[in-house]
Formats: sequence, C-alpha cells, structure tokens
Amino acid sequence: MAQHDPNVEVEIRETPPENGWRCFERTGRARATCPCGLDTGMIPAKRAWGAGLAHIVAGWP
Ligand SMILES: [Zn+2]
Repeated sequence: MAQHDPNVEVEIRETPPENGWRCFERTGRARATCPCGLDTGMIPAKRAWGAGLAHIVAGWP
C-alpha cells in the first residue's frame, strides 16, 4: 500500500479572452499535497516542486 502519493497542483488564473478564446496563465505558485498529510498551501512553484520531491525522498522506506 502506498503511503505517499504526493501531488503538485499548479495554480492558474484566467486572463482576458483573445479572439474569443479563453486564456489562462500560470501564476508561478503551486501547492504540494500528499495523503499522509503534507499540504504546503500555495507557495512559489519551485518550492512546491522541491517540497514534493524532498517529501518523497524523506518518506522513502
Ligand atoms: Zn506523504
């Protein structure tokens, strides 16, 4: 059974439409979560990815 399953959710926001298309852009923030209880909240994306990776390494059996 996998105890850790980290997930990084990248935050996006909607920008004004161009030629009728909906547009989205990354805000530069992300949130790392894991079923074990890890939840970084919205933090700079680089830190979220780092936290997710470091978390896997730290939680390795
Ligand atoms: Zn975990």
